[in-house]
Amino acid sequence: MADRHRDASAIVRSRGPSLEAASLETSPRAHARLLTADVIDGKAMAAALRMRVADEVRGLASTHAIVPGLAVVLVGNDPASEIYTATKKKMSAQVGMRSFAEHLPASTSETALIRLIERLNGDHDVHGILVQLPLPAHIDPLKVITAINPAKDVDGFHPLNVGRLAIAHAALTPCTPLACIMLAKSVHPSFAGLEAMVIGRSTIVGKPLAQLLLAENATVTVAHSKSSDLPALARRADLLFAAVGRPELVRKDWIKPGATVIDVGINRITRDGKPQIVGDVAFEEASSVAGAITPVPGGVGPMTIACLLVNTLRAACALSSLPSPGL
Ligand code: NAD
Repeated sequence: MADRHRDASAIVRSRGPSLEAASLETSPRAHARLLTADVIDGKAMAAALRMRVADEVRGLASTHAIVPGLAVVLVGNDPASEIYTATKKKMSAQVGMRSFAEHLPASTSETALIRLIERLNGDHDVHGILVQLPLPAHIDPLKVITAINPAKDVDGFHPLNVGRLAIAHAALTPCTPLACIMLAKSVHPSFAGLEAMVIGRSTIVGKPLAQLLLAENATVTVAHSKSSDLPALARRADLLFAAVGRPELVRKDWIKPGATVIDVGINRITRDGKPQIVGDVAFEEASSVAGAITPVPGGVGPMTIACLLVNTLRAACALSSLPSPGL
């Protein structure tokens, strides 16, 4: 990815002399060429990261006879959650980890789920525990997450890990925000002096992402459903992160020319009678203004799973008092 390690101005330059100059071009092909953002290939970045994880896993097995193990707990039959957990299981096996799938019926009680978590906490073959959200309405997710041993909390949602992130002393960081940072870093090696805007303030994406951006020296604004004049706020951002869950909310005129746009949203819509997945950003039109942009699918999603594997590897090392791998 060395060729992507350029600063924002370099990207804008690579797309043409300037946006104004581009508008003077007469050939439509030249115009399209000059005004098309770099697409950040999350799929390829994730594949490369998984290969590095696989190398580390092999090393851990040969040097210390440790095989990182990831337990994925699913309660109920939400179709999207079933797909996510199956992918996590497959990817962990592909990098040489052990994977343990715990699929419980939707009627499972909170007590029974917490008993399972306690068993996994005590299982030395399990280094990472992930409870797929959302849980059925009768189960309190905070109670369940708090029951996970923080050292095995590979989602980084345990209050102790949330607190550590807030004091810039993170052990296990939430995977999607971590993925967003890695994707943006493929364009900007340093965020110092850049304005970052996160749209969405959820505890699993928006807030931890804002903490990570601050730790990386960006100047951060967090917007949400009660913010006024979102387009004007967004237009200030060199780094724009959309984590809202509203199909194509972010339009072309929300984007500062040359900005890097990271789209976290996964929205299932029907277009022209066909089911389709789109992000929170109107990709085609945003691409004509942004300097770099992640697609949906193929951006944040695959990197999130790769970061889960990184966290599982880190947890396995930490639980065995070994240094964290430099990934
Ligand atoms: P959430 O519903 O918990 O939070 C959404 C946030 O967006 C809230 O803070 C809300 O204030 C804000 N919001 C809602 N409507 C808004 C509006 N019109 N203008 C401005 N802000 C508004 O959602 P979440 O869990 O943070 O997920 C957000 C999106 O990211 C969803 O589409 C989800 O599917 C996706 N997601 C993707 C991944 C991944 O791996 N790619 C991981 C997690 C979540």
